[in-house]
Amino acid sequence: MDEADVRQKARAFVAKVDVSGIREDLTPYVVAANAKVKKDELGEGESGYTITKPNGKHVITVNSLETEERQRFTVCHEIAHIVLALESSHEEVPSWSYAKRHPNEIACDTFAAELLMPYQQWLSLVPKEEPSLELIQRMAALFSTSFPAAASRFASLSDIPCAFVTMERGAVRYAARSTSLRQAGAWISPRSAIPVGSVAHRLRSSGSSAADTDEVAQDIWFDNWEKGLDLWELSRHYAGTDTTTSLLWFDNEDLPEVEVNRFGVRVEDDGGLAELTGQLPWPGRSRRR
Ligand SMILES: [Zn+2]
Repeated sequence: MDEADVRQKARAFVAKVDVSGIREDLTPYVVAANAKVKKDELGEGESGYTITKPNGKHVITVNSLETEERQRFTVCHEIAHIVLALESSHEEVPSWSYAKRHPNEIACDTFAAELLMPYQQWLSLVPKEEPSLELIQRMAALFSTSFPAAASRFASLSDIPCAFVTMERGAVRYAARSTSLRQAGAWISPRSAIPVGSVAHRLRSSGSSAADTDEVAQDIWFDNWEKGLDLWELSRHYAGTDTTTSLLWFDNEDLPEVEVNRFGVRVEDDGGLAELTGQLPWPGRSRRR
């Protein structure tokens, strides 16, 4: 089951539920999953678990000592385990850590994000303006979710070329890209070090929690990229967990003319590969000869 399958299953689940009040109350999801929620004081770092009774009813227990937004995320994550029928693998790995997480857990996080921020509701509420710290914070509050979750959602549903990068202990863990950026073949290598010259690198080097926005060169972030073009980077560093996030975006006009093959890999335009690819990444652009 890849990420697209998980999203599709989550959207099918959301489509069966009345989500009009879901930003305040997750009960419709809980009912649809044949579950109920119990709150309990669990150990530190333990967010929740699910027990299935002999009659098929699921009991989701969430840690009442965690924040309300974290508890909402846990409920949706546990619903994912139920709906996707994926076993839990909640070992001693902190939930914020992408590094050692089991693929089942990452799939359930993806599913949970779809439930917390239903894409139709998100698209109808997200302002049609350039991202900013304030805008992402506003969206996070609106959907009772965390800043990184809202920033990631912004990037993946944006119609501007946009990416959201999650970094841990100085290395890139995950990058969510908007459709237009994927089509342009923009690629950020997982496990690579936070690039020198980025806002993320500067904030992390300072050693304290902070956020900042600045313009940086595009080829700082993207592999095999044209030089001389800039992008915007809104970065936030969390010193306590040594986690850094960056939202990257640029104007369509600043997107270099590139060609990608059917695997989404950028190809060199030497004039001799047209029949291998034949796909223009950007409508209305003519291919240079
Ligand atoms: Zn889990």
